[in-house]
Amino acid sequence: MSTQRLLGMRKIIVAIDGHSACGKSTTAKEVAKILGYLYVDSGAMYRAVTVYFLEHHIAITNPREVARALSDIKVSCKINPQGMTETYLNGLNAESKIRKMEVAEQVSQISAIKEVRTAMVEEQRRLGKKKGIVMDGRDIGTVVFPEAELKLFLTADLLVRAFRRQKELLERDELVDLDDVIDNLKYRDQHDTTRKVSPLVKAKDAIIIDTTHITIDEQVDEVIRLATGKMVPFT
Ligand code: C5P
Repeated sequence: MSTQRLLGMRKIIVAIDGHSACGKSTTAKEVAKILGYLYVDSGAMYRAVTVYFLEHHIAITNPREVARALSDIKVSCKINPQGMTETYLNGLNAESKIRKMEVAEQVSQISAIKEVRTAMVEEQRRLGKKKGIVMDGRDIGTVVFPEAELKLFLTADLLVRAFRRQKELLERDELVDLDDVIDNLKYRDQHDTTRKVSPLVKAKDAIIIDTTHITIDEQVDEVIRLATGKMVPFT
């Protein structure tokens, strides 16, 4: 769809959920760019909270400490000059810190805390108030935006996901053993799908996309096709 035609369409919310490292963020970023929408990586927000908890040695079993920490945390998203969304923790760019393996190892425990989720969901809903947003995560179509016009559930084979994540870590100068990446993905999938608060589940009306055998371009094309199919013109 041309930019001109897109401008004549009502903006929608695209919610992308799924397992760890199955291409959600890569797809979401590109789709948002094509549609001229805001892209929000909700996982990055939970990772930023994790960075703060680790740096400040917050005892996650102590509700008072957790509450105090949350009142001291401001997670925000800014668009960099290249048009990419970056995550900030208390005013500082947290992009390189949040992608570290150490953070990946702790994030599922911290994202399972009810108060952490309440704070992040509030911010995520604020960002999506005007629609025109592509957000990826674990509970976007089920909890954050149950009214989203398009809901997708991405998945892929574990080994394929692990190779992709290992490559991404390497691009950030972190060499991690493939077995450790596999263990981390398995652990997070298990934790994220079985936690009490907002577990990762496919929304009833979500469309499944298995990314095991398709390229990023194919993923993006498919999502754009589905998204534009949900758009209606201004009347
Ligand atoms: O998407 P990413 O892999 O960066 O997410 C990191 C972690 O953040 C997930 O494993 C999950 O524990 C948590 N998360 C969540 N809800 C979301 C997004 C991420 O619980 N909406």
